[in-house]
Amino acid sequence: MIELRGHHLFCLLGYRGMGYSPAYVENMTRIHQSLRNNPGTWIQIVKGPDHLCDKFPATGEYHCENLTIYDRDQDILNKMNLEIGQILKWEDIESRIREYITPSDIQVVCKTCTWRSLGVCEEGIQEIHQGKGLKEVH
Ligand code: SF4
Repeated sequence: MIELRGHHLFCLLGYRGMGYSPAYVENMTRIHQSLRNNPGTWIQIVKGPDHLCDKFPATGEYHCENLTIYDRDQDILNKMNLEIGQILKWEDIESRIREYITPSDIQVVCKTCTWRSLGVCEEGIQEIHQGKGLKEVH
């Protein structure tokens, strides 16, 4: 089972192989690929640092405990009608994206994220709406 915090449900949709360090990217690519290849993978929604934060580089400015990030997690869970501790399959998360989320939500909930301007997260949501699933990352 993979533990994920709220905002990482969105980050995975926009993931294109970029990240904070080689170890971070390797871990995120592995998780992303297992969800892509097996959408029936079980996910547990957690509060605070999750299995992606595990590999945040010790040399980077650690933002995983910032209150603004906790707020972003909660905003996203509220929108998707999810709760901390809930266990569900990745494919059910994709269904909720289709049901509750639009690409423009990124502009609001992720307002302060430095990755937002790349546009890949909105594109990722769009692709889920088109039934494409997670994008292949090399
Ligand atoms: S804009 Fe930032 S926080 Fe929001 S989904 Fe993209 S990478 Fe994640």
